Amino acid sequence: LFITFEGIEGSGKTTQIRLLAERLGKAGKAVVATREPGGCPIADMVRQILLSPGSAALVPRAELLLYAAARAQHVDEVIIPALKEGKIVLCDRFIDATLAYQGHGRRLDASLIDRLNQLATGGLSPDLTLLLDMPAEKGLRRARQRNEDQNLGNEDRFEQESLAFHSRVRQGYLFLAEGQDRFRRIDAEGSAEEVARRIAAVVDPFLEQ
Ligand code: ATP
Ligand code: C5P
Ligand code: MG
Repeated sequence: LFITFEGIEGSGKTTQIRLLAERLGKAGKAVVATREPGGCPIADMVRQILLSPGSAALVPRAELLLYAAARAQHVDEVIIPALKEGKIVLCDRFIDATLAYQGHGRRLDASLIDRLNQLATGGLSPDLTLLLDMPAEKGLRRARQRNEDQNLGNEDRFEQESLAFHSRVRQGYLFLAEGQDRFRRIDAEGSAEEVARRIAAVVDPFLEQ
């Protein structure tokens, strides 16, 4: 079973994956929690390139291809083997992030991204995608606060993008969610516990199927 978490910066993906992985683990399920870009050594090297402030000069097409390269490695090295072992795989961002950020955000062609996603994943698609949705401004505020608290500074160059960019990404995600059955939109406002309960209400029946 393959579940992906999507949403803008600061919407709570990493927090909620951790909570869900802990809860399912305690219930005796075999769970692998992973993330993109990254999730294995080679993809983590690509992640470093993508997130470094010096990479602001990356042209959108080159950025797109780096995400695809990281994904291909991560799918083959981590996701597929875990699924073959019958594990529940929880992934922090996946193909939809590319459609939302590089498609709606950077305005690259969606059908081209679909084909590239297809190449990178070998056709693997999530069984369930949770879209943690909230206004871009509020998510960015959370993310900036987190970076300040952890002294991360401006390490993540995407948090420097304009509010208009992040709002386009949010609208892109909502558009993707409307068109596909595997998506569930989760209201990401409120406390982490409240959001976790909303997620449980979707995931638990899904696991019992
Ligand atoms: P990014 O896309 O930047 O990785 P994310 O979606 O993974 O962000 P988190 O890192 O989980 O988001 O959360 C961002 C910040 O907001 C963290 O400091 C986290 O502790 C806090 N946070 C997470 N969920 C909530 C919530 N429901 N209410 C308030 N703060 C929250
Ligand atoms: O979710 P995480 O913080 O690990 O993602 C790292 C950054 O990469 C995010 O700030 C996000 O804006 C960016 N990203 C992107 N395009 C993707 C996936 C992530 O721009 N396809
Ligand atoms: Mg995160």
